[in-house]
Amino acid sequence: MTVYLDCNATTPIEPAVQVAVTKYLCEEFGNAGSRTHTFGSSAQRAVQRARESVAKVVLAQPDEIIFTSGATESNNLALLGLAPYGEETKRKHIISTVIEHKSVLEPLEVLLSRGFKVDFIGSDSNGRIKPESLNKYLSDDTLLVSVMHVNNETGVLQPIQEIASLLENSSAFFHVDAAQGFGKDINALKNIRIDLISISGHKIYAPKGVGALVTRRRKYQRPPITPLIYGGGQEHGLRPGTLPVPLIVGLGVAADLAVRDSNKRARICREFRNTLLSTLEPLKPIINGDPSYTLPHVINLSFRGIDSEALMLSLKNLIAISNGSACTSQSYKPSHVLRAMNLSENEIRGAVRLSWSHMTERPDWDEVVEVIKRLQ
Ligand code: PMP
Repeated sequence: MTVYLDCNATTPIEPAVQVAVTKYLCEEFGNAGSRTHTFGSSAQRAVQRARESVAKVVLAQPDEIIFTSGATESNNLALLGLAPYGEETKRKHIISTVIEHKSVLEPLEVLLSRGFKVDFIGSDSNGRIKPESLNKYLSDDTLLVSVMHVNNETGVLQPIQEIASLLENSSAFFHVDAAQGFGKDINALKNIRIDLISISGHKIYAPKGVGALVTRRRKYQRPPITPLIYGGGQEHGLRPGTLPVPLIVGLGVAADLAVRDSNKRARICREFRNTLLSTLEPLKPIINGDPSYTLPHVINLSFRGIDSEALMLSLKNLIAISNGSACTSQSYKPSHVLRAMNLSENEIRGAVRLSWSHMTERPDWDEVVEVIKRLQ
């Protein structure tokens, strides 16, 4: 059986999450906005519990959580939603990084076409952005600094705390795309200097189609976001529409489990990684991204002289892996992240990402090694 090693693309669902989702899908199916009966109030209470669970992970207030359909929407709401305030106040400068996900880079392109100026912080060859570059770009006109928490392709943790400290005396809003790090690297996101955090359910064993944007108040003021859609006023008017109660409940349970089991999951993932590295060692893989900053459930690597497409194809009955981001994999384009790390075109073409979870069974590593040897 093929073992799924693509958990950065999406995770399987946790059994306890599935139970909770099914209950609110099949039995407690009320609309959280219905005020006239207990079906509604029960759904509303379940949403409130989930809000508290998500808020607790990042030390936010429950009413600072805006449920969305996922991190793509949260990123769009943060970036495009802040733009009108920037236009009003004539602060039209944004700082971001060259290794962001497309759901940050594409809204930034839209803002460029609307007259915003965007500076991009570069990456070092280990896949970490250089926080000191912030000082070079930061000015009184800077509306927003948007930096990802953990890179999706390499698993490398970015210097969020350092950036938060550098922003101490700045009025710029700080947005963190935490799709890959929320519930995994727990402490960084508790920093109260982070105003906006994008979260995705399906990277932490909850269903696809749910996420959140944390809109942390600073001096009692919520970040001045204009909604992207209009309707029934839900989520403080920032994300109107009937709440998907089962999905939100699933996200809440997943958030609770992520905190409760954080150390245990990390330990299991580290053990998996150690086995993987020691078995592949004779093949001399090149690891892309600084291992000391990489989350324990992911590795990006290349084997000299082997193309990633050939590798994935040959291994497809043993392990399911990927090259690059699932969001852009419809059309293979060399990774902008690995390019930013200054890898050669050959190294980029050879790179594959393996990502697992605490629930992943062990593949037949010896067979995997045999297949790769045949390609070398
Ligand atoms: N940001 C990053 C870093 C991601 O890895 C992803 C998912 N690949 C997203 C944003 C988009 O998340 P979602 O699938 O929830 O829209």
